Amino acid sequence: MSDLHTEHVLLTPGPTPIHPRAMRALTRSMLGHMDPEVFALNREIQADLRVMYGTEPEAFTALLAGTGSLGMEAGFANLVESGDEVLVCANGSFGRRMAEMAARYGAKVRLVTAPLGEAIKPQDVAAHLNDDVQMVAVVHGETSTGVLNPVPEIAELVRQSGALFTVDAVTTAGMEPFKMQEWGVDYAYTGAQKCLSAPPGLAPVAVSERAFARFSARRSPTPLWYCDLGGLRDYWIEHTYHHTVPVNLHFAFHAALRAALEEGLENRQRRVREMGRVITRTLEPLGFSHYVRKPEDRLPTVLALRLPEGFDDAGVRKALREREISVTGGLGPTAGVIWRLGLMGESARPQPYRRLMTELADLLGEPDLVERYESILKEETRELVTF
Ligand SMILES: *Cc1c(COP(=O)(O)O)cnc(C)c1O
Repeated sequence: MSDLHTEHVLLTPGPTPIHPRAMRALTRSMLGHMDPEVFALNREIQADLRVMYGTEPEAFTALLAGTGSLGMEAGFANLVESGDEVLVCANGSFGRRMAEMAARYGAKVRLVTAPLGEAIKPQDVAAHLNDDVQMVAVVHGETSTGVLNPVPEIAELVRQSGALFTVDAVTTAGMEPFKMQEWGVDYAYTGAQKCLSAPPGLAPVAVSERAFARFSARRSPTPLWYCDLGGLRDYWIEHTYHHTVPVNLHFAFHAALRAALEEGLENRQRRVREMGRVITRTLEPLGFSHYVRKPEDRLPTVLALRLPEGFDDAGVRKALREREISVTGGLGPTAGVIWRLGLMGESARPQPYRRLMTELADLLGEPDLVERYESILKEETRELVTF
């Protein structure tokens, strides 16, 4: 690559651009995984994660050494035993991934589904819940379609049933309201590279006291030794060796999470919504429209836009990639039909989308696009941090 190569603009629904403070933290000199300074840093990460997830004060929080999918897998591995009934809400590819994992750990899986591009209906969950269900699992924000599932309403039903409640918070925690204690969520996870803009390779998890008690009462040990909650507790609480944690990723994650909490979770929620409106209003005159019909079903952090009639999806995205801009299309049935624009973490800023509008204006022969973007941006945003 030449020296003239411009900074790459990542507008995908994960990974997201790495926060500058996380990038700097990556260059710290290496320390051992049993170093007292690392344990002190880990303790701060655990406390900050309790704030991010809104947990009870004693909830166990930790980083798993893997991506978001490991967070998903660890939940089923630790909290499900062979023969358990698990109700999985599956209205997209990550919901289906949950169902597949639960089944591999021996669960009898029942599915609650919804048509593509629509949220799970709480009454459909209610219709499937009974005393035999040990766990209900749902994806909060379904990345594959840009749909937000009604987690607080589903939580209410699950609380009455006594089942454990697992929530995939990958596209929400750190950017959207997430209230683990208030809602009664027992297990939540995300991936470092989504809403927190840290490097990929860590899965921050939170476990309620109730879920930890359920784990402790298992009839047999979890088949997933690497993420055994007891082993993780040994390292994160007792400070004894379990496995070598990726210390440099912990440095970067710590910095990214601190930056998010310093910005304020409410400010981040506002930033995502403002950028979503700016992008949608700018592109609407070209024929782009919301893919998710009902406004309350729309996931603010992954903007799913239906493409204009006859739009050359593959061609335009390839041309954008040649200009160092990555945009993601649809998946399976929505391939060629939608774009999924990432608004997680550092993507929800005016500058990266200014680059997109500038290049689209040129590629599509729409010279007014950039000016429209700037004027809508002025209307919709207040004091956005623009680096
Ligand atoms: C990205 C994502 C995952 C999986 O995370 P990886 O880091 O790719 O393993 C799980 N759930 C949702 C909703 C996601 O967007």
